[in-house]
Amino acid sequence: MKKFSKHFFKKQLVTLYAFIFLLFGLTLTSCQNIFTLSPDQPSSSNIPDIAKETTSQLTVHYLDVGQADCILLQNQGQNVLIDAGNRADFFTIQSYLNKLNIKKLNTFVLTHPHEDHIGSASLIIQNYDIGTVYMTNKSSASKVYQSLLKELDRKKISPKVPHPGDNFFIGETAFTFLGPVAQYDDLNSMSLVLRADFGDNSFLFTGDSTNEAEKDMLQEKVPLEAQVLKVGHHGSRASSSYVFLKAVNPEFSVISTETGNDYGHPHKEILSRLNDIGSTLFRTDKSGTIIATSNGKEIIWNTAGVKSSKEHVTDENGLTQKDDKITYTRGFIGNRNSKTFHTHNCSSLPKKENQIRFATRKKALDAGYHPCGKCNP
Ligand SMILES: [Zn+2]
Ligand SMILES: [Zn+2]
Repeated sequence: MKKFSKHFFKKQLVTLYAFIFLLFGLTLTSCQNIFTLSPDQPSSSNIPDIAKETTSQLTVHYLDVGQADCILLQNQGQNVLIDAGNRADFFTIQSYLNKLNIKKLNTFVLTHPHEDHIGSASLIIQNYDIGTVYMTNKSSASKVYQSLLKELDRKKISPKVPHPGDNFFIGETAFTFLGPVAQYDDLNSMSLVLRADFGDNSFLFTGDSTNEAEKDMLQEKVPLEAQVLKVGHHGSRASSSYVFLKAVNPEFSVISTETGNDYGHPHKEILSRLNDIGSTLFRTDKSGTIIATSNGKEIIWNTAGVKSSKEHVTDENGLTQKDDKITYTRGFIGNRNSKTFHTHNCSSLPKKENQIRFATRKKALDAGYHPCGKCNP
């Protein structure tokens, strides 16, 4: 079983210290409303069944919000929103959520504080019941970001800054934060990267993550493979390096962009790379809102994508990576009585009431649990 290198955790620690330092610095030097860092605690309250067989449906809606991102995921009556379009998109998002009779967003992920990702966030927070908010630790002086902080404060929500390896669950869907694995000056590079796993299907969301951030994730051997990729940065050549796309190896790709946008997105080399890896492409500028429905085995799309001229090949190595990914995503299961911890598929898992979940092996060890002799987690 592959694990993140020691170097990786060291790097995370450095990042954490750097952030705490920054946090104190900012608190002292300005009256900016900076959110507090709340480390992810393993909780037993929302542990789903460790079912490999899913009994529900996951729907992923890539909303047509023009040159922006807004993605809704629904499973077992719970909702996750990733990004919030531009400021002008609120009524589009609101009418979409209302049409689905959504009153609560269990989790709201804001990948990074650019307007095309957080534009309508403050109005969404104002108008809906909001559970956990995840944000990157990079702040912005922009008006739209400041009004978001104000609204979070008003609703007494403390956003969490996730670390790679942190996970949360919605229904039968496991979400894992994969990036960023380092600290960058560039806001796009700081984009939160996360993957949703549901049965055999997985969806990767990269915000506007850049070539540099992609390179670092590859170097840290972050398990990136996913069946569906939300292509980084609206199809810009500043994202989606060929080696990154090869590592994700998505059967399907979605680009969220607008016809005639100022940036020329999607760039033609990205379209050519996606074609090269045999990925079927969906675009919000061509098809409007794109909906993927998964039963845990197959994904059905609401619209026909553009098929690649090449065949999509899943290589043998993909399987090893996939096994790692599942172990990693589902975390580890501890036995509260014996203080041992297991992989999710160990044959001697404790009874559900005695289970405690750890997002990473390190968290299990830190809590004083020791690895099971059978499954060697
Ligand atoms: Zn951006
Ligand atoms: Zn963007």
